[in-house]
Amino acid sequence: MSNDTPHTDCEPSMCESCNVADCPSAGNTHHAENNHNAQAADPHADEHKLYARMSRVGRKIVVLSGKGGVGKSTVAVNIATALHLAGKSVGILDVDIHGPSIPTMLGVEQERVHKGEEGILPVDADGIKVMSLGFLLNSMDDAAIWRGPMKMSVIKQFLADVEWDGLDFLVIDSPPGTGDEPLSVCQLLSPFSPGLDGAVVVTTPQRVAAIDVRKSVNFCKQMSVPVIGIVENMSGFVCPGCGEVTQVFRSGGGQRIAESMEVPFLGSIPIDPKIVEAGDGGQPFVQHFADTATAVAMRKIIEPLLK
Ligand code: ADP
Repeated sequence: MSNDTPHTDCEPSMCESCNVADCPSAGNTHHAENNHNAQAADPHADEHKLYARMSRVGRKIVVLSGKGGVGKSTVAVNIATALHLAGKSVGILDVDIHGPSIPTMLGVEQERVHKGEEGILPVDADGIKVMSLGFLLNSMDDAAIWRGPMKMSVIKQFLADVEWDGLDFLVIDSPPGTGDEPLSVCQLLSPFSPGLDGAVVVTTPQRVAAIDVRKSVNFCKQMSVPVIGIVENMSGFVCPGCGEVTQVFRSGGGQRIAESMEVPFLGSIPIDPKIVEAGDGGQPFVQHFADTATAVAMRKIIEPLLK
């Protein structure tokens, strides 16, 4: 939790990773004790728990981008929603520790998580299971001031302790770049079989974004995570009046990078003012503007995932 956040309603199972001296939950030492006892009996207890949980989840997909603001969370939410609308059981895990935006985009930012029989119950957003640090903060304005090991510990708990069981897909929205969060997800999941199934990499047509997307693709190659494909977001502008698409930037960069790096290209999504309206209003675009050409473009992106 953030260093200045009182933790009256934090999840007991999060206590181990909390380093706040005056946290009111600090008396809850039995969680840490239980964990230490379990660790003493089996030093790999955490790994076994993570493996057991993840083996009850179908495909695990991470959404990455080289830069912030390219629409990665928007794409993650709409991939999850499109899969859900296609009849799949879907969860979305927001591992953007410093800027969790998934709860807002799914209209569940006021929700809090509760304890279930086998772990933490994810929040239900119209049938999609959601977990985000946003649910554990007292206010969306609170900041999580955490370093790498702390983040890895929380991400491990989000994967192992949340009741994801039975999902067809777990979509993991990672913050931009190749830092602690995507690294933690890859390191935690890759050693296992079934591990991480692959990454969707989001970019925009501008050259500065295109340079960084190469880093994301190389990151996946180094981590032995298959690249499911590249999505070019903000590719052309949809006129709110007539619906015509105008190319405001040079488009096609995502496709060229995909070809040069020998990874699939999943498709392009235009700049559409209704995407902002939908994201800010907590209504997934692909569901609430289902008849638009932009929603058709979004649905095309998930086709390889359904095969
Ligand atoms: P990131 O996760 O890469 O930081 P977000 O998904 O949070 O980016 O998107 C940043 C902003 O851009 C949001 O306000 C979102 O609604 C908007 N946005 C994303 N994609 C589009 C698009 N294709 N057209 C218009 N606005 C978009």
